[in-house]
Amino acid sequence: MPAPPADPKHQKLRRAIIDTCLRMNALGINQGTSGNVSARTPEGFLITPSGIPYEQTKPKQIVAMDLEGGYRGDWLPSSEWRMHLDIYKARPEAQAVVHTHSVHATALAALRIEVPAFHYMIGVTGGPSLRCSDYATFGTEALSKTMLKALENRTACLLANHGMICFGPGLEKALWLAGEIETLCQQYFIACQAGTPKILSDGEMARVLARFKTYGKQSDELEQGDAPAVEAPVRRDAAAGD
Ligand code: 13P
Ligand code: ZN
Repeated sequence: MPAPPADPKHQKLRRAIIDTCLRMNALGINQGTSGNVSARTPEGFLITPSGIPYEQTKPKQIVAMDLEGGYRGDWLPSSEWRMHLDIYKARPEAQAVVHTHSVHATALAALRIEVPAFHYMIGVTGGPSLRCSDYATFGTEALSKTMLKALENRTACLLANHGMICFGPGLEKALWLAGEIETLCQQYFIACQAGTPKILSDGEMARVLARFKTYGKQSDELEQGDAPAVEAPVRRDAAAGD
């Protein structure tokens, strides 16, 4: 295999992947060399190398992979390269993938629970629940297959007896989503210890999901025909351009 160039392509994105890993551990949503992060490129995707502590990872050690499952360079890609590859192949909207072993998500994944709509924020998954995959050994095609099923119409899922995985339109959003999932799992865990949480109805979650489409968008970011997520109060000054 030819040696990788000394200064491989996508330096900024390689650095951003390492920064995302460092932040993931600093946020307390992953520990040690568990978890992995990747980002799509025109050629395929870039992914963290297997088993190298994030503090020691250099940009040149981030592994370039193509969408046929090939890699280049001297470092082995994450053992979970197939889950990342399959997400990029099956979900064109995915630009970055984050996999973590965050504590509460992993605890619920060990119980193999599908987290229901106990809080409206469960809608960040893209649907009315956070599903859990079946169990399969880490780093296998079987794991990737069951993950894809749990991710149907969703952007995040639990991985039985393992952790969680999610994707987003970029590294920043994918990391944010991983943090939200961990928070939701912690909240659900605590609520279940205190009693039996009331679950929001499908109708209510349909309303929430419709609102999520435009939530957080300022008026200049809304597409034509989009109504704002919540009814805005009356504006007292003249709108810009009036
Ligand atoms: P890698 O270090 O190979 O990415 O493995 C970490 C992990 O979480 C495996 O599931
Ligand atoms: Zn893992």
